[in-house]
Amino acid sequence: MVQKKRLVVIGGVAAGMSAASRARRRNPNMEVIVLEKTGYISYGSCGLPYYVADMIKDHNKLIIIPPKIAREKRGIDVRLFHEAVEINPSEKWVKAVHSESKERITFPYDKLIVSTGAGAAKPPIPGIDSKHIYVLRTLTDGVALKSYIDSGVPQKALIVGAGYIGLEMAEAFRIRGLEVTMVEMLPNILGTMDAEINAIVENELEKKEVKLYKDSTVSSFEANEAGEVKGVILEDGRRLEADLVLVATGIKPQVKFAEACGIQLGPTGAVAVNEKQETNIPDIYAAGDCAEARHLVTGKPAYIPLGTTANKQGRVAGENAAGGKGFFKGIVGTAVFKTFELEVARTGLSSVEAEKHGFNFVTAAITDKCCAGYYPGASAITIKLVMNKDDGRLLGAMMVGQRGVSKRIDVFATALYNKMTVEQISQLDLSYAPPFAPVWDPILIAANIGLKALKK
Ligand code: NAD
Repeated sequence: MVQKKRLVVIGGVAAGMSAASRARRRNPNMEVIVLEKTGYISYGSCGLPYYVADMIKDHNKLIIIPPKIAREKRGIDVRLFHEAVEINPSEKWVKAVHSESKERITFPYDKLIVSTGAGAAKPPIPGIDSKHIYVLRTLTDGVALKSYIDSGVPQKALIVGAGYIGLEMAEAFRIRGLEVTMVEMLPNILGTMDAEINAIVENELEKKEVKLYKDSTVSSFEANEAGEVKGVILEDGRRLEADLVLVATGIKPQVKFAEACGIQLGPTGAVAVNEKQETNIPDIYAAGDCAEARHLVTGKPAYIPLGTTANKQGRVAGENAAGGKGFFKGIVGTAVFKTFELEVARTGLSSVEAEKHGFNFVTAAITDKCCAGYYPGASAITIKLVMNKDDGRLLGAMMVGQRGVSKRIDVFATALYNKMTVEQISQLDLSYAPPFAPVWDPILIAANIGLKALKK
């Protein structure tokens, strides 16, 4: 009898479970084992802010495929609380440790997918290990943070980092009735986003009584005798009170033990992969937040870890590990998030990034209405375009407004994927009816103003 081929997947969240499910569908005779170090698999971590805000009451609602369903309906052998600690590519095995029994188990493999994700990048600030200082990466983090808020004790939340998680959580904390202060080390919020967009977001924070300290670094956390956080000291000596701290200062790919076995990292520090999600080691694939992706605007490897990319990369890795022919061409860096009344989105390069990558570029910004001006609820939408002066192509778009942002950005994402010029975008036949758009959609207005800027 021919022995079944075995696929081992390390990490059971977005990329890992997409990979495992795809591999089983592609080749139902393949044995698929998923090693997951926590007690949860396949959950929507992007939903955590809404769970903490109590808009979603039960954390189990965030679980997409419960382990029982994965095992019984999909035939995936899910091993919870198994932390992979060593890969031996020449003998083709993975060693895992069971977190409770401490038993070390060796899993031989024919194919291996590394989908170990990314961990919160906690800065080494004195006092950061005090009680009630949280990160928000995993379901376990979300459950701990929410149960502290549920206790009714915290009143003053302080968020370190004004990026995506910080801004989503500012809203969540306000919904829960907490005072909110944000500390951002850069002179601007939202990393490389352009100033026109950031100004609108900052104005929204002010309206919602969120205190924002930019250009500010936390030099230490203060705790009481019980070790509970009570405040932070900024580098300039100012003290801010807090009985709950969320550290949202970015994430780092978890690649330590993959690197130890010779899996090559790319220039971004994440695992280097090709279009088939193959690493440099035969029969080892990587996908999700631990891996790079090709940026289709710059043509270079990029590290922009997002849930959508993790799912697609996982699916391709699973397809190929099971004998298929899948490709993941790359990303254009499309993202959207909500903070209070605003939708904020971007795709492609911002001005800072276009500069960094050496493009000869111009920009154009417009503010118009999301729908016909006379239609009830018409609100402002601001779009900023970054364009290549040499060939008239779009390089990036950023957008903010109360309505109609999240799907409009996808038009620009599609344009970037197809390497369209701004002139071509200005000719698009887009949908129109008063509740959804003005006769001239803001996308077309932005493209027309962009054309003028290109011709100057
Ligand atoms: P981020 O990179 O979006 O933002 C981190 C922020 O922290 C930056 O503004 C940075 O300047 C700041 N910072 C870093 N070190 C600091 C320090 N010591 N003191 C003060 N500020 C500091 O990262 P995040 O918000 O932690 O999110 C993590 C990941 O999750 C990101 O990759 C993000 O794209 C992703 N995410 C995406 C979405 C979405 O697409 N809707 C939502 C949430 C998170």
